[in-house]
Amino acid sequence: MRPPGSTLIVTALRRGLRKRCPHCGEGQLFLGWSHLERCAVCGLVFARSPGDTWAFTIIGDRLPLAAMIVLVYFGVPPSQRVLGVAVMVVLAALVVWTAPNRWGAGIALHYVSRVYWPDPADPIPPTPAPPFTGDAER
Ligand SMILES: [Zn+2]
Repeated sequence: MRPPGSTLIVTALRRGLRKRCPHCGEGQLFLGWSHLERCAVCGLVFARSPGDTWAFTIIGDRLPLAAMIVLVYFGVPPSQRVLGVAVMVVLAALVVWTAPNRWGAGIALHYVSRVYWPDPADPIPPTPAPPFTGDAER
């Protein structure tokens, strides 16, 4: 049984932003800067084909870059060249530093689309059991 829609989306996005598997929340999406093919814990294949997350990557990657350019272009007066360069360097570092998190969110959104529109050729593994807490025996 899958969780209700908004819970599924929020949970998957939160896991993706943390660079964790959107399905189980345990496996890593990346090893350093390298994208892993599947989850080591639950076996979910993150993107069956190389272009599967393309649309979500555009949203998560290109829109922040466009916002950054607009911010520097319209937010910094032309007389403040040093400020403009400093803002550009800080924003560029921020974009690079948060890239895996944004890519993780893109993988999570792709996962959500796979849950909503399942493809028999692209199966999602069974939902992992919640961690054992010991409360069941009381
Ligand atoms: Zn997993």
